[in-house]
Amino acid sequence: MSRRKTTRRAGGNPAPRRATDPQAPCPCGLTAGYGECCGRFHAGEAAAPTAERLMRSRYAAFAVRDTAYLLGTWHPDTRPRELDLAEGPRWTGLDILATTGGSAFHTEGTVTFRAHFTAPGGTPDSQYEHSRFTRHDGAWVYVEAV
Ligand SMILES: [Zn+2]
Repeated sequence: MSRRKTTRRAGGNPAPRRATDPQAPCPCGLTAGYGECCGRFHAGEAAAPTAERLMRSRYAAFAVRDTAYLLGTWHPDTRPRELDLAEGPRWTGLDILATTGGSAFHTEGTVTFRAHFTAPGGTPDSQYEHSRFTRHDGAWVYVEAV
């Protein structure tokens, strides 16, 4: 047992924590709180109804480091065996730029987006991606960047 108290970082900034507060703004950028927005997808209470909502919920899962959700919404053919988000960047925002298909009436869809993040060194950066989604057992899953 250590007598040392937990040390805080200089400047008083608390360490980043999971955005699991249901009232907190959802990391995906929609106006609903996390619990009503992507939180219920992460909790398995509902499935994302469109490819865009799946994309948003996967971005939010990166932000709250929900590895299980990310692997569970990845097509089995392209899913990595494991995913380590511990050293990942801090995700700071998502812009959906374009979508094709991906609705309740489609079985395929694409989402073009820019995801903003702060690299571990503190430098703001962003990632542009055109992602392909399909239905697997009825639910939208991420296939790959195209
Ligand atoms: Zn959301």
